[in-house]
Order: sequence, then structure tokens, then C-alpha cells
Amino acid sequence: MTTNAQWTTFRKALHTNPELSNQETATPQSVLAQFDNLNPDEVHQGLGGTGLAFVYNGEKSGPTTLIRCELDALPIHEANTFAHRSRRTGVSHKCGHDGHMAIVTAVGEKLSHSKVQSGRVILLFQPAEETGAGAMQVIEDEKFTPLKPDYAFALHNLPGQPLGEVFVKPGSFNCASRGMTVKLHGKTSHAAHPEDGISPATAVSYIIDQLPKMKAQINEFSLVTVVGATLGAIDKSGQAPFGTSPGEATIMATLRTASNAAMETLVACTVDMIEQCAKSQGLSVEFGWNDVFYACNNTQAGYDKVIEACNNLDINCTTLTEGYRWSEDFGKLRDTATEGAMFTLGAGVESPQLHNPDYDFPDALINTGRDIFVEIIRLVNGLG
Ligand SMILES: [Zn+2]
Ligand SMILES: [Zn+2]
Repeated sequence: MTTNAQWTTFRKALHTNPELSNQETATPQSVLAQFDNLNPDEVHQGLGGTGLAFVYNGEKSGPTTLIRCELDALPIHEANTFAHRSRRTGVSHKCGHDGHMAIVTAVGEKLSHSKVQSGRVILLFQPAEETGAGAMQVIEDEKFTPLKPDYAFALHNLPGQPLGEVFVKPGSFNCASRGMTVKLHGKTSHAAHPEDGISPATAVSYIIDQLPKMKAQINEFSLVTVVGATLGAIDKSGQAPFGTSPGEATIMATLRTASNAAMETLVACTVDMIEQCAKSQGLSVEFGWNDVFYACNNTQAGYDKVIEACNNLDINCTTLTEGYRWSEDFGKLRDTATEGAMFTLGAGVESPQLHNPDYDFPDALINTGRDIFVEIIRLVNGLG
């Protein structure tokens, strides 16, 4: 594998100046500046907020192929001290989206030399992936309507796996997930007379016990993880009000399923269990939902194209037997196309994990990622 110095320099420049979800301003400008020299036929700005799309039209009619990368970084303070470390306190590219952008920009450079034969290719730089909001923002933007793809592809680098190897599967590739906040409202009373109030304490312990058991009601992979809980009012010094029986409680959990349909069932069962418990205890209940990610469902034809591209390029490609538990918001974009797939690209067995403060995207993957996307485009659209 060789690295292309130009794209490594660009990747490092993006890494130095990371921006959080839906606050991407300098990043799209840097990408636009690169595409000044890459002769796209159309440039679409402000997609779903700060997104960009570069369109390369073919000479004949044919399918639209969309390749997606992400603009955003994370609210994580970088632990690395190398020259291209983040210059923004508390913000850094810890998911490798800087590398994904370099890959897709390098695809643009290829398309500026090798003419798309039929249909068209759209290179999409999507905002706000990390919050799960960006793909939907793009889809719901009317500027995206004329860009609706027939094929949609994306990759994610994957630490812990051999550098440059590909992992993919047909069907469910990564999980749907969503954060659930449950607020239980009762009534405070003197701690000497808890019988005069309505304490949520019993409900909290019952719900926390039941949440991980909800998976028994779903006949495919699912998981409910309790991520936090509070009961009663604890003041800023950490002091509990020992004279008061509590009236309020909050429980937070993350729900995960392999498919979107299973998520609907899991949400319904979980809400039902909590509502019944609250009712039996005389409590009222409020639900909040955050970070909603949809599962990515790879089509057989999309999977086949990834496999064929890797075979043509002599890249090791493993078909996974199970999808990943993590979530990624490409799922909804995949659904807008008839066909498509997401795949992962090994970032090295020694690489720190994603979202870790010492992670950095391996530049050796830029050419590999570019070559796979270009080969997929050649298979679907033909290249001159
Ligand atoms: Zn991430
Ligand atoms: Zn990511």
C-alpha cells in the first residue's frame, strides 16, 4: 500500500481543525477548496445544513451512485501530541471522519481524470453523523430530491482489524439504536412518613432489573443497557436530603436491535413495561428519546459490488456472519437507494479504538478506500 502525500496533507489539515456535529463551517470550506481543481459537473452546498455534494455526470444515461463520507468530529480532547493534533480544545477527529473525507476527495480526483461512462456519481459530505441526525437532515432537504441515488455506499475504518482488510455482509450490517430517558414523577414527603408521599424508589429498582431482560421478547439480536439513573434530589456537594422521601427519578438506557422493525417492537414492549410499573406505583411517567440511529441494511447487489471490487483489487475481504452492535447513521441514506452497502476497512490491530482520545486515522487507508470506491463506480457506472 502506498500513501498519497497530497491526501495525507489534506487529511492532517482537517484533523487539526475539527468541528462538532452541525457546527461544520471551516471543514466544508476546506473540502470545497480541494474540489476547485477537481472539475465536478455540479456542486451542491448547504445540504441538510452544512453538507456538500459533488456530481460527476456520465455521457450516457444510467444509475446514480452515491458515495458518502462525514464532516463532523467529536467532543473528545485529543491526547496525541503529534504535529497535526487538534488545535481545538475538547474537540477532535476520533472517528476518522477526516480520513473518510480524504478518501472521498481522492475519489473526486480520479473522477476528474476518468470520465463516468453512464449515469452519474455523487460524492456526499454529510454533516452531523455522530448525533445520528445528519443523514435525515440531508434526506429531508428538498435540494437532495434531485440527487436521490440508485446505489449508495459508505465505509467506516475499524480499529482492531488488520490494516486495509475489508469486512462486509448482506442484510443487517449495523444496529439500530436509541437513547431513552424515563422520568418518573411521584410526591415527596418527610422521610419519617414516606407513606404520605409517592416514592419512585421501588419502580426504579424494578425497571432497572427488567430493562436488560426485555431482549427475551425479541427473536433477533437486541440489547438494553442502563446508562444512568437518579433518584431524589442530591445537591451539588453530593449531599442527599436525608429528611426527604424522594418524589422524582430518572432512568436512562440505550436500546439496540439488529433491524428497524425489531426496534419498534422493543420500544413498544419497554414503554409498556414501564407504564404498567408506574401505574401500579401511582407514578406518572414521561419518555424522552435521543440519538436515534437506524440500522443499515445492505442489499445483496450492494454487497456483491463490494466483494467484486475487493476481488478485482486483490484486497482481503471477509463476509461477516453477524452485524456490528454499533450504530452509524448511513442506514437511512442506504434506504433512499434501491441498492447499496456499508463496509468496514481494518485500521490495524494495534490502532486505538474509535472515540478513544489517542486514536488517529491511518493514512495508509486513503488509497485503499479510494481504490475500492473507484472500482465500485467502475462496476456500476463504467469509467473512461
Ligand atoms: Zn463516531
Ligand atoms: Zn464514524
